[in-house]
Amino acid sequence: MTNKKPHTVIIGGGFGGLFTALDLAGTGEVTLISDEDHFLFTPMLYEYFSGEVEEWHIAPNHKELLDESVNFIRDEVANVDLDARLVTLKNNDQSLSYDVLVIAVGGVTNYAGVPGAAEFSIPFRKIAHADELRLRMVEALDHVPPDLPPQDTQRALTFAVVGAGASGMELSTKMADLLRDAFKRRALNGEPRVLVIEMGDKILPGMGSEIRGHVEDALRDSHVEVHTLTRVVKVTEKSLTFEHNGVKTEIETAAVVWAGGVRMNPLVEDLKVEKTSRGLILVDPTLQVRSHSNVFAIGDIAFFRDATPTLAGTAQLALQEAGLLAQNVKAFLSGKELSTRHFEELGEAVSLGTERAAVLVGGKAFAGPLARQARFALYTARLPTWHHRLRVGASWFFEGTAPRPLLPLGLQR
Ligand SMILES: Cc1cc2nc3c(=O)[nH]c(=O)nc-3n(C[C@H](O)[C@H](O)[C@H](O)COP(=O)(O)OP(=O)(O)OC[C@H]3O[C@@H](n4cnc5c(N)ncnc54)[C@H](O)[C@@H]3O)c2cc1C
Repeated sequence: MTNKKPHTVIIGGGFGGLFTALDLAGTGEVTLISDEDHFLFTPMLYEYFSGEVEEWHIAPNHKELLDESVNFIRDEVANVDLDARLVTLKNNDQSLSYDVLVIAVGGVTNYAGVPGAAEFSIPFRKIAHADELRLRMVEALDHVPPDLPPQDTQRALTFAVVGAGASGMELSTKMADLLRDAFKRRALNGEPRVLVIEMGDKILPGMGSEIRGHVEDALRDSHVEVHTLTRVVKVTEKSLTFEHNGVKTEIETAAVVWAGGVRMNPLVEDLKVEKTSRGLILVDPTLQVRSHSNVFAIGDIAFFRDATPTLAGTAQLALQEAGLLAQNVKAFLSGKELSTRHFEELGEAVSLGTERAAVLVGGKAFAGPLARQARFALYTARLPTWHHRLRVGASWFFEGTAPRPLLPLGLQR
């Protein structure tokens, strides 16, 4: 009999991992390992890109959020040995042993094997990606003189977004609004061009029809061109080639953003556990990995049967699962029965350009500037920890949430 506290190791500091760690604080020894030093509230990465919110609002440091009862290690987990109960880190030779393991590593961008996509397009999953895209847009604008004819201006300021899911819609409308504002401020000729390229036959494939109409209005108002049934076949440093009805077209691009899907995290690909045909870890209704009762998986990498199908691959699901998971880890460690739960859609909110949003709550959708305010209010409530929510809520209320214009590089603050 030993007095050693049971050690729970959580891999991944996103929605699933961080919220589990917050709920488990003080339950034995808890270690959170993540390759980023901060949490990221991804639903507002678009507002960070447009300058409507600050980095500290949506990407608070893990050490600020977690109390001293949780150890935080910033590193990438290189390997998990489920039989030896060991986790190996990329930048530290020592392995960590665990009693309970929580796998919450999320997905990675899926370039679907398109030539040049991984090298030349910008993914949109992290703070660094939003910074890179914004910089690319400012640099492109800085190269265009005000007396350039409209057709040449548009050619030099053509941006493409790949994928017409919620991410592609939110990002393209923000990009278009920021660019049109920059055109006015810099007195440029003509209009910028923002295209969305989508392989499927419609926008927002996973979303209900209630919100779709509002998004279509926003795309029209922001002058975003949507090309459905169109496949990207090649990306280079300065161009994109797409195919529609068997015809290939190459266009000059100032930047291509890849919002075209998510694939399995390589760490999960290497794990020898039961998975779905898409590579998701099959978990029991208690979130335990089949064949290893001390291992739990959560969020984008896990297949949880009892959830509304539209919740798959969302922060909403990871967040709800985290509550159940923490409860079950506590039960597991104290030898009690584990629980299960059904997860429902909590409502949808998409940001549309820099002045509007569309929100769906209780089956009713509304859009416009008021929906934008409602979205901010809704998301304040979902940020991690009360302390952080209060600080951010006060900042949005007193300091405002106006976008930051794409000023010339020399004039940036
Ligand atoms: C731009 C964007 C906008 C989104 N908007 C919405 C939205 O409006 N509503 C919604 O419901 N969902 C949204 N999502 C989806 C949502 O972000 C995910 O479903 C959710 O984050 C999944 O949570 P998770 O814990 O599984 O993974 P994540 O939140 O992705 O967290 C995984 C963490 O693990 C870390 N990690 C990965 N591999 C390793 C490793 N080997 N070692 C250590 N750490 C590792 C990652 O860096 C990351 O911090 C959005 C996603 C993106 C990218």
